[in-house]
Amino acid sequence: MKIRVDMAKCETHAQCVFAAPEAFSLDDDDELVYDANPDDALRAKIEQAVLACPVQAVFIEQG
Ligand code: SF4
Repeated sequence: MKIRVDMAKCETHAQCVFAAPEAFSLDDDDELVYDANPDDALRAKIEQAVLACPVQAVFIEQG
């Protein structure tokens, strides 16, 4: 699956990191880094991350 984070919106709340730590993490500078092509097995967790993000910055790309 493909995901995208709008880094202009992201405020590093890290809710996505808690929801899907396999795909999202914070680097040493507290900047969000993420796997844009996470395994399909993580879909439920990614969907949780989409819902958890307080600024709606996480998107699942279709197709
Ligand atoms: S939950 Fe949203 S605002 Fe927070 S780090 Fe993730 S994408 Fe950024």
